[in-house]
Amino acid sequence: MDRLPGGPTPTTQAIKAGWLDKNPPQGSYIYQKRWVRLDANYLRYFDSNKDAYSKRFISVACISRVTAIGDQKFEVITNNRTFAFRAESDAERKEWMQALQQAVIEQRARARLPSASLSGVQGSEPPDRAGSLELRGFKNKLYVAVVGDQVQLYKNLEEYHLGVGITFIDMSVGNVKEVDRRSFDLTTPYRIFSFSAESEQEKEQWLEAMQGAIAEALSTSEVAERIWAVAPNRFCADCGAAQPDWASINLCVVICKRCAGEHRGMGAGISKVRSLKMDRKVWTETLIELFLQLGNGAGNRFWAASVPPSEALQPSSSPAARRRHLEAKYLEGKYRRYHPLFGNQEELDEALCAAVTTTDLAETQALLGCGAGVNCFSGDPEAPTPLALAEQAGQTLQMEFLRNNRTTEVPRLDLMKPLEKHYSIVLPTVSHSGFLYKTASAGKLLQDRRAREEFSRRWCVLSDGVLSYYENERAVTPNGEIRASEIVCLAVPPPDFHGFEHTFEVYTEGERLYLFGLESADLAREWVKCIAKAFVPPLAEDLLARDFERLGRLPYKAGLSLQRPQEGWFSLTGSELRAIFPEGTCEEPLQLRKLQELSIQGDGENQVLVLVERRRTLYIQGERRLDFTGWLGAIQRAAASSGDTLSEQQLGDSDIPVIVYRCVDYITQCGLTSEGIYRKCGQTSKTQRLLESLRQDARSVRLKEGEQHVDDVSSALKRFLRDLPDGLFTRAQRLSWLEASEIEDEEEKVSRYQELLARLPPVNRATVKALISHLYCVQCFSDTNQMNTHNLAIVFGPTLFQTDGQDYKAGRVVEDLISHYVVVFSVDEEELRKQREEITAIVKMRVAGTASGTQHAGDFICTVYLEEKKAEAEQHIKIPASMTAEELTMEILDRRSVSVREKDYWTCFEVNEREETERPLHFAEKVLPILHGLGTDSYLVVKKHPSMEAMLLYLASHVGDTKHGMMKFREDRSLLGLGLPSGGFHDRYFILNSSYLRLYKEIRTQRTWNGVPETSHRPEKEWPVKSLKVYLGVKKKLRPPTCWGLTVVHETEKHEKQQWYLCCETQMELREWFATFLFVQHDGLVWPSEPSRVSRAVPEVRLGSVSLIPLRGTENEMRRSVAAFAADPLSLLRNA
Ligand SMILES: [Zn+2]
Repeated sequence: MDRLPGGPTPTTQAIKAGWLDKNPPQGSYIYQKRWVRLDANYLRYFDSNKDAYSKRFISVACISRVTAIGDQKFEVITNNRTFAFRAESDAERKEWMQALQQAVIEQRARARLPSASLSGVQGSEPPDRAGSLELRGFKNKLYVAVVGDQVQLYKNLEEYHLGVGITFIDMSVGNVKEVDRRSFDLTTPYRIFSFSAESEQEKEQWLEAMQGAIAEALSTSEVAERIWAVAPNRFCADCGAAQPDWASINLCVVICKRCAGEHRGMGAGISKVRSLKMDRKVWTETLIELFLQLGNGAGNRFWAASVPPSEALQPSSSPAARRRHLEAKYLEGKYRRYHPLFGNQEELDEALCAAVTTTDLAETQALLGCGAGVNCFSGDPEAPTPLALAEQAGQTLQMEFLRNNRTTEVPRLDLMKPLEKHYSIVLPTVSHSGFLYKTASAGKLLQDRRAREEFSRRWCVLSDGVLSYYENERAVTPNGEIRASEIVCLAVPPPDFHGFEHTFEVYTEGERLYLFGLESADLAREWVKCIAKAFVPPLAEDLLARDFERLGRLPYKAGLSLQRPQEGWFSLTGSELRAIFPEGTCEEPLQLRKLQELSIQGDGENQVLVLVERRRTLYIQGERRLDFTGWLGAIQRAAASSGDTLSEQQLGDSDIPVIVYRCVDYITQCGLTSEGIYRKCGQTSKTQRLLESLRQDARSVRLKEGEQHVDDVSSALKRFLRDLPDGLFTRAQRLSWLEASEIEDEEEKVSRYQELLARLPPVNRATVKALISHLYCVQCFSDTNQMNTHNLAIVFGPTLFQTDGQDYKAGRVVEDLISHYVVVFSVDEEELRKQREEITAIVKMRVAGTASGTQHAGDFICTVYLEEKKAEAEQHIKIPASMTAEELTMEILDRRSVSVREKDYWTCFEVNEREETERPLHFAEKVLPILHGLGTDSYLVVKKHPSMEAMLLYLASHVGDTKHGMMKFREDRSLLGLGLPSGGFHDRYFILNSSYLRLYKEIRTQRTWNGVPETSHRPEKEWPVKSLKVYLGVKKKLRPPTCWGLTVVHETEKHEKQQWYLCCETQMELREWFATFLFVQHDGLVWPSEPSRVSRAVPEVRLGSVSLIPLRGTENEMRRSVAAFAADPLSLLRNA
């Protein structure tokens, strides 16, 4: 909130005050005695020196000249008005003139603007509110402006432009309250101002604006003034603008609003921006003290040690120049003073550990800014981090500084230019004008209807990247303006949501929401298009090609750049979320109804919206609360199923509604052999409850055996299909299908069905196919379930065609479709064979399970993949109870004639897609029990173990079966995967020995002879090591701090699953921990020693080893595996 020229105390102190004679208006020769007072911003005169409110004020910024005119008189000349004063003596006149001239010069220097360009006292920043008001005691209406923490009174609009007013009221002593429908009082200790507005609504807006001024006045004083107590902090650290009221709390510099905007644009990893005025809670005594000690002085000695004059910033620098400079300064560290240890990581870290125990904050700043690791290991387990060392030494300011820089990224000259700022390179110039209806801007979402009376007609002009609104088309000064570069979101509420039929919302960076309305749809669309064009950069202009409900920029993380959020451009149309990322990859739109997961993580201030699609995860960060909340609601609404047609449901991968898929899958797993399946009805209440929850959010419903009866599920599915307003075969085509059933020639009939099928909407087509395929399977088991094709047709005919079942036409269609399933749906041999095998396996498993209830039951058929999960790599294999992982591996390799060479380390992995983890089975592990425990998200794959060699080498070079050290730790506090885990990753000290994995919050230790710290404290947690299952990888949703994570699963005796996530700093560390786990769990035998596996002279397979889990391995491995996930996996191999 820049304020020109007003401002808090430091500049409002009187420069000169005293009695002068002033000549009265309109040619009278009688001079009147006035008390005249000059401060940095205003020349004011009062009736007496006891008055709080002036008769007149003249903005110093508007004074063009001060000249002597004889008789101890002098004139103060503004753009078109002259004020004459007479002093008691020549000496006194000289003093006044000098003081005035000096004030003018300083004012200009401060504004760095030639006086000619100043159009009025309001300067470059629009008032929060301005307009006409009646004031009791004045004949004519006054022009009143609420600017920053002042309420300024002018005789009229013209005076307002000229910067010559009656008086202004400092709102730090003000209080407003309403009196009646249109009137309100502004009360101060010196006087009560009784205002009357035009309407009740205007009165409300005035009250809001004045209350805002009070809040600003009250918040200004405290923190800002304390921080400005040190001279360098009184000017923006970056551009030199006066009275900077923002700060970067990690860089520890005080900055102006304009620079703050650019700081924020660099991301919180570079600069954490807070307001001195508005974020009052942030400003603890310690932080204020830190700013007094470091602040702009020390900050610039380090960050701006060598700024070439040509690259320096001015308060008036353009946004583009500002951005260039700030990125060079903080992102690249281009101007910083290099620490002598620069480039030598170890010594930097050591120096940091030493510095934090002293009071030398500038040294800490220099070390961190040159790359010292804020979380580096000090070598002292008692105080393992710099923060702990500072704490030990009682250095609270050092601690504060370290804490604020915990996540700061080290500037790098070689850093690729951040691309996220493309949008602001050059914004297209768009011009548009016309009348719009506008409400007062709001600081929160508009949940309820705004009545027509709340809108005021405004003349709006969009030009040169600014949207200005005026009282009327003749007005010269806008009531306010919105800069296109500050617009972050544009949203179009549904028609008739507010009092105007067509409305749109504009969200700004400053967290304000402006609502505009129009009666004409065309005019509204035109405005939306023009505003969108004005704030969307060329990079993202593709988003403008279609209508949207919401459009804007948001910080996001996706793909490989999970470290630092970037700004992307998003648009929402229906259930499609389009995104344009500065990385340049053209992303497919996200189908919100097809999301596998949509959740919100984090607490109030740092919320993250997580969207998981099949192979990608997108995080949208809630940096700005207002537009983020808007997006959140819109995305949630778009992702929920809404509507009558199948395609408006939540959809699965193959375009089948999740609701259908869930039911069919459950019946396939549990109901194929259930007698009378689909004929028997479930319990009405249970069926209804289930259907309701499926309709609400099918994705989140998990059908579990034992909890749901198959008949309830089958009834829910039938009910859903029967109640579909448009029906599965659509209203339009229903009759054609029924007619087709009467064609006598079978061949002709089938081809007619094919024809009709092709005409269905894609989602309906896919659903018909899935359903008939399912019924085909059901009838395969008619021996047990008594549901042959005919019986199924009797049930499903009327359901799918929504008929009363009087005639059999509908039934015949269903019967035909099942009988001719293979032909009608062009099912190929392979597909059919696979389907049969799957079903057989399921049924066998169930039969075996119920027959004996133990693991010793017959053979299981299981699908195992070679190298990667894809159809061509699939093997169905019988798993006898005695089979080990090694035997399974050899069997698969044998079948595919894969030669095994030394150091290939072929291993069977258990992969959990949902958790994004994998676990190499130990060669001696029995496979069958693992199969029993595999969820639907898991599968087995045989591939080379990429780090076995490194692990064996590590183990060979180490004696003993223990390991200890720091890891980042996070706990999954939810049971059975219900709910979301809470909290983040925290540093913990771990000790792993032959019996336990123990975790310590802090350790007070003494090194024992073997270097293992002996803890005098009880561990925070401990787990018996042999009952742990250790998986490689941590799911991305949890935002692991590094890509070298482990997921540790512990099943308690009560069969409760607990999960812990551990993250290592390096890949080597990960391998060491994992190797030690293997070593401990398998008594030192990690890999079979006898070389039976090597031999067979078959040429090497051409498949590369594609890692399945992106969160593992080197950057390159990750890239490849992510690419493999994102695209057709085969393309990767073909290119290789
Ligand atoms: Zn600045």
